[in-house]
Order: sequence, then C-alpha cells, then structure tokens
Amino acid sequence: MVDLTKFAAGGELGSYLSTRRIERPWSRGGYSYATNGRILVRVDRRDDIAEEPLAPDCDALIDDADARGNYTWIKDIPDVEVKELACPGCRGTGEIRWRRSTPITCDECNGKKMVVSPQMVSFPMSVSLADVYVKLIKDELPGAEIGIVESKDRVPVKIRFNGGIGLLMPIRRG
Ligand SMILES: [Zn+2]
Repeated sequence: MVDLTKFAAGGELGSYLSTRRIERPWSRGGYSYATNGRILVRVDRRDDIAEEPLAPDCDALIDDADARGNYTWIKDIPDVEVKELACPGCRGTGEIRWRRSTPITCDECNGKKMVVSPQMVSFPMSVSLADVYVKLIKDELPGAEIGIVESKDRVPVKIRFNGGIGLLMPIRRG
C-alpha cells in the first residue's frame, strides 16, 4: 500500500507552501489525498485517513489536467541518484553556534549535516522534473507511469500507478 505521508507537506520532502492544511494526507468523498504543493497523489478512500475540512479541492486540478488532451505515457521512469552536499547553512556540522551560546540545530538541514543538491531530469517535450520527485514516484508508487502533454505553459505532468493517480509540477518547460 502506498505510504501517502511521503507525499504530504509533513513528509521528508517538506513543502514549499508552508501550510498546515496539507501537513497530512486527508480523505474526502471517495478518495484519499496527499500533497506538498508540488506533487499530488489520489487513491481510493482509506478508512484510516481522516477528513480535513480545510484541505484544498484537488479534483479541479486533476480535471484541468485531464482536459489538456492526449498524454504520452512514460513507463520507463529513469533511475536517479539524488545528490547531497554539505549543508551550506552550518558548513556540514549540523549546528549553528552564536559566539559562546549553546549550539542550536541547523534549520536548513535539521541537523542532518547534508542537504539535497537538486538536479533536473529531462523528459520528452522539454519537460524537466526534479530528481527527488522522480525518485519518490519510482520508489513509492507501484507500476508508476508519467504522462506528458504538449503545452506552451508550465503545466503539471500526470502520474498513474496501481491504485491511484497524481500530478507533479515540472521545474521548467521549454
Ligand atoms: Zn545545516
């Protein structure tokens, strides 16, 4: 079963929209959802996932994506190795120390000393996706395929997998 928490704003990849409404997966109608503002997944409703009245309506985004036309589906999602580098915020020590005060945990790396160095993965039709998301899709979504459609604008790619669908915003579009 897909671990939806990995796609939620409270998951490892965090969120660039810092909002509590999408901190955890939620259920609504016949589905359960998770998003961090950049990636969205929707599966058949799970009884163990509670409703969240303040969560956004993501079906409109999915309907918009469906309306964009015929998608080309990529079944062979490339293996990507996510690169990490020493955290620039704490110079790889995991701590910030102000003069003689007690060191505090670095909030850029959460004390992990390393941060992800984002790389782009190129797909057809000038679509570039962030490596961390390509890896997440490949590792966590069984039978995943990525769907790309011709568009002049930066529009989400579609994701389909055994048991659900999703969307991912590209980094850029030619
Ligand atoms: Zn750090």
